[in-house]
Amino acid sequence: MVSPPQSLPPAAPKRALVLVVEDEAPIRRFLVSSLVAHGFDVVEAADAAHALREATTRLPELLLIDLGLPDRDGIELIRELRGWCRAPIVVLSARDAEAEKVRGLDAGADDYLTKPFGVAELLARVRAALRRALPAEGAGANGARLECGDVALDVADHRAWWRGSEVKLTPIEFKLLAVLLRHAGKLVTHELLLREVWGPRCHEDAAYLRVYIHHLRRKLEEAPARPRRLLTELGVGYRLVAPS
Ligand code: CA
Repeated sequence: MVSPPQSLPPAAPKRALVLVVEDEAPIRRFLVSSLVAHGFDVVEAADAAHALREATTRLPELLLIDLGLPDRDGIELIRELRGWCRAPIVVLSARDAEAEKVRGLDAGADDYLTKPFGVAELLARVRAALRRALPAEGAGANGARLECGDVALDVADHRAWWRGSEVKLTPIEFKLLAVLLRHAGKLVTHELLLREVWGPRCHEDAAYLRVYIHHLRRKLEEAPARPRRLLTELGVGYRLVAPS
């Protein structure tokens, strides 16, 4: 059994990560500073290519997307994201662009904000979208605590421990470890891991996965090059075991 050390303060509620996709710098700055000031973690992108990269690596809990982007149509970006990303999307559009808003919603956005908007309206839409997203998100998280030997993870609080000490994991490392813990002791294939962590339409391969497994081993193994917990099943997948 692994428990958090007694001296740790109570867990702070996890801050939702918002991806802001907006090419106009003043609007982007306004969005970022408003969200940060109200307790959100924010990552920003000024075009669709950058947005896709951030969405796949950072796995934001909510996306704010301006429909007029320099490199691609925002609608196209939403369609592509919706292939694998279930996080709520709020579209930003100009006042006279009703048809555009409808196209955004048809493509898979959840809500929209009409420019110009104030901080109160922005926060109300963001909070409402996150609230609506919560039940679906929590549905798969049967039981808040997962354990295997000296590795433990609290799904609800987004915290992880190794040998009784808390370890800091990135969102992807956290998801990856959660999947392995749910199947503790069993062989988990590359395909299942990629699908569970990055979504059903993930086109990455085992090499991509290897990078993240490598990072996890550096945090959860005494000798990452000779793993005793996170074992490689050559050519097939990985297995998380309790070291004997
Ligand atoms: Ca724009």
